[in-house]
Amino acid sequence: MASGSASSGSTTGKTVVTRFAPSPTGYLHIGGARTALFNWLFARHHGGKYLLRIEDTDRARSTEPAIDAIFDGLTWLGLDGDEPATFQFARSDRHAEVAAALLASGHAYRCYLTQEELAERRQKAQEARRPFRIDSEWRDADPSTWPADKSYVVRVKAPRDGETTISDLVQGEVTVRNEEIDDFVILRSDGTPTYMLAVVVDDNDMGVTHVLRGDDHLNNAFRQLVIIQGMGWDVPTYGHVPLIHGSDGAKLSKRHGALGVDAYRDDMGVLPEALFNYLLRLGWGHGDEEFISREKAVEWFDMADVGKSPSRFDIAKLQNLNGHYLREAEDARLAELVLPRLVQAGYENPDLALLTRAMPVLKVRAKDLNELAEGAAFLFAKRPLAFSEKAQALLTDEARGRLAAIHERLFSVSDWALEALEASLKAMAEDLGLGLGKLAQPLRAALTGQTTSPGIFDVLVLLGRDESLARIGAQADAATGSHI
Ligand code: GLU
Repeated sequence: MASGSASSGSTTGKTVVTRFAPSPTGYLHIGGARTALFNWLFARHHGGKYLLRIEDTDRARSTEPAIDAIFDGLTWLGLDGDEPATFQFARSDRHAEVAAALLASGHAYRCYLTQEELAERRQKAQEARRPFRIDSEWRDADPSTWPADKSYVVRVKAPRDGETTISDLVQGEVTVRNEEIDDFVILRSDGTPTYMLAVVVDDNDMGVTHVLRGDDHLNNAFRQLVIIQGMGWDVPTYGHVPLIHGSDGAKLSKRHGALGVDAYRDDMGVLPEALFNYLLRLGWGHGDEEFISREKAVEWFDMADVGKSPSRFDIAKLQNLNGHYLREAEDARLAELVLPRLVQAGYENPDLALLTRAMPVLKVRAKDLNELAEGAAFLFAKRPLAFSEKAQALLTDEARGRLAAIHERLFSVSDWALEALEASLKAMAEDLGLGLGKLAQPLRAALTGQTTSPGIFDVLVLLGRDESLARIGAQADAATGSHI
């Protein structure tokens, strides 16, 4: 095998099969979610299949809660696999079987070099200032000379001359000299497969045609090719996507607001369609389109449009998108999502129907579900209302006097509806020679305990006649006797 080449492959003829293969050592992070999304979209765009594989071979670090969080996050984003997920650890026997096949065909060898011998060689190379290469005398040893009673690892026989080129869907042609690829271990001395082997075997057995993943795996692809070619398997088409960076250009971390998907959902109150759209635009674009639906994403998605340079994470963009999707979302759905947040904030049994009715005027003012819950809170507040400092400041004696007059006016409004209420208060403002704002400000404070809220007539209608009059009355009663 002097030189090898992995062609970009064709998406015609063969059904496209992609996979998302997270290691469940942490929660589903933003980079992983984007990889899942690109795999899902690519499969959907080509009418293919998108599979999940949980790479749980690191037994010490793979946890059940992390696996659950990954499934949960994917389901929330609408990125469930098309088939039940494959668990890598459960396939160890199959991985070992492939290692045995590579041994039998001479594409791998038993290496009896001990840790100490390797360390010694590594040190010698260091002292001589030359790069360390595994140059095992066992590489070409006759199998009949393999000791039966000594511990060994199985190493793959990597080609030593020539070069290997991968035509990557994102990176273009990438060439590596074969001498740079070492004889890496595929089976440890305890007989367990290494990650490098497991990935290749699973991808092959799952029929994966396109390996789309972070570009931190590009180097691995060259090593994985050695196994693939040793087995004579089909070479998948690769697409290595640049990693996500923070807004300052540094590697993305929590400091940049990069969290697990669950944090965007639970703590930040982000809608799944907003995160979907945000992740999609993170490294991929279609002209200047900002708001892209699932359907359009499937129609337009192509790996050729994935950028070669790292994309930057921008939390403000995500919030803007979220505001957009909140305004588009169905009121009943938003009410269901906001309700638990109100309960958590201490409001007992908030009325879902009222919350739904209020949604059209609430959602235009919010960027996330938390803001929506904050905006809705006044509807469920119990008397005596709590007042913000600003609202309190508005409730001067003069304002309380006006509230008494407003109470009197509104008390006589028989049709408690937007138009009648508006007409009544406007007439009152005119009678008094005051701007409507002079009435609306204390009224808003009395009704909501805040200085910002949806339109004052909407507030009156939503609270209803009795509650509105009671809240106005409570503040008017607190007047010290001054009049308008
Ligand atoms: N399990 C690897 C990871 O989480 C991905 C392996 C792959 O996509 O080939 O980084």
